[in-house]
Amino acid sequence: MMLLGTQKINNKGHLEIGGCDTVDLAKEFATPLYVMDEELIRSNAKKYIQGIKSNYPDADIAYASKAFIVVQMCKLAKEEGLWIDVASAGELYTAKIAGFDMNKVLFHGNFKSDMELQMACDEGVFAVVCDSFSEIDKLDSIAKSKAIIQNVLIRCNPGVDPHTHSMIATGQEDSKFGFNIKSGDAMLAIKKIISKNNLNLIGLHSHLGSQLLEENPFEECAPIMADFFATVIKETGLDLKVLDLGGGLGVRYLEEHKPMPIDDFTKMIASNVKGAFNAKGLKLPKLILEPGRSIVGEAGTTLYTCGEPKVCHLKDGDKTYLPVDGGLSDNPRPALYDSQYTELIANKANLDKDTVYTVSGKHCETDKLFINVKLQKAECGDILAVQTTGAYNHAMASNYNRFTRPAVIFVKDGKAKMVYRRETLEDLIKCDL
Ligand code: PLP
Repeated sequence: MMLLGTQKINNKGHLEIGGCDTVDLAKEFATPLYVMDEELIRSNAKKYIQGIKSNYPDADIAYASKAFIVVQMCKLAKEEGLWIDVASAGELYTAKIAGFDMNKVLFHGNFKSDMELQMACDEGVFAVVCDSFSEIDKLDSIAKSKAIIQNVLIRCNPGVDPHTHSMIATGQEDSKFGFNIKSGDAMLAIKKIISKNNLNLIGLHSHLGSQLLEENPFEECAPIMADFFATVIKETGLDLKVLDLGGGLGVRYLEEHKPMPIDDFTKMIASNVKGAFNAKGLKLPKLILEPGRSIVGEAGTTLYTCGEPKVCHLKDGDKTYLPVDGGLSDNPRPALYDSQYTELIANKANLDKDTVYTVSGKHCETDKLFINVKLQKAECGDILAVQTTGAYNHAMASNYNRFTRPAVIFVKDGKAKMVYRRETLEDLIKCDL
C-alpha cells in the first residue's frame, strides 16, 4: 500500500494523517474535504532549500503558488524561507495579505494585463518574467510612469521535449510560453529590453513542464541555457545574474511512479548548472527553482463520503459505480488530462482492495473520477480517501453546478487547523447583481 508523508493505518484500521484519524476529520469538518499534511509540506520545503543551498550556495527556491495557494500556505512558505512565484494578480494579492516579502516574489504569465503589470511594479516584486514583445513595451511605459526601473527576466523556450502530458508540457518548440531561443526571438526580446530606459534585464528563465518523472529533460536544459547565457553576454555585454529553471519535478500519484527524491533532484540540477556554466567559462549565476507540485502534491488527500454503489449489468460483465459527494468541481484533473490517482476506503484501510469500481462524481457531465480502480468493498456512508491531491486540486476547483468549494485543513501532531473554510451558499451569490 502506498502511504505518503505521515499517513498510516491506525489500530482501528482507519487512515490517519498528521496523527488525525481521517474518519473523525470527515465527521468534524464534513466532506468533501481537502486534508493537507503540514509536516510533509514543511519537510519538502526544507529538503529543497537545504538540498540546493548545500550544493549551490547562491540559490533560492520559489514555491510555485499556482499548485496550491491560500493565505496560510503563503505564511508557511515564508516561515520555511521559500520565495514565491505568482502568475496572476490574485496570487500576488494572496501573498501580499500573507505578509510575504515582495522582494522574494517572481511575477509570471503569458498575457499579463495592464492591471497585473501595474500591481507588480507597485508592489516591488523581485522580477517580472516577460513573455511577449508587447508586454516589454507595456511594462516599460508603466515603469516609466512610476519613475522606477523594473527588474525583469525573460522566459525562454529552450526547445526541450519534457516527456509529460501535452497539457502540462511547456518547454517544447511549439509551446505558447516563452521566447524561442533557436528561432532568434529570445535574442530579439533581450535587445528590445536593452533599448528600454525603465527595464533592467537581470537574467533568464525557462520551465519545461510539470509532473516530470525522467531526468533527461532537466539534463538537456542546463547546457542550452548556459550556451544562451554565453551568447547573450558576448553579443550584448549584459551582466546577467540570474538563471531560473522553473519547476516540474513529478510526484507519486500511483505506486509505480518513481520521481527523483528532492535531495537527488537538487543535487543533479546544481551539478548540471555548475558543469554547463564552467564548461562555458561563465561566472555562476544566482540559481532559482520554482517547484509547486513536488512541495504540496503528496501532502494532500481528499476525503469524500460514498453513496450507494450502483451495478450496471452489461453483456460483457457487471460495472459498478461508486458515487461520491464531490467530483469535477473539486478535482478537474481526471477530466482535463486523464489523471490517475490512488484511492482507498479510509474506514476500511486495513482490508484488501478486492472490488473494482468506477468512482463517479456528482456533476452533470459523465463526471467519472476514477475508472476501474480496485478498492475495499464499499458501502453507502464509507469515506473514500484520494491520495496526492495537494497540487492543482483546490487551486483548480470551481463552483460548477453552483457547488461550494470544500474546506482545506492542515493536520499536524494530532491537531487539525482549518485554513480555507467551506464556501457557503451566500458566497455563491455574492457577485450576483
Ligand atoms: N514555474 C512555472 C513558470 C510554471 O508554469 C509552473 C507550472 O506550470 C511551475 C513553476 C510549477 O511547476 P510544478 O508544479 O510542476 O513544479
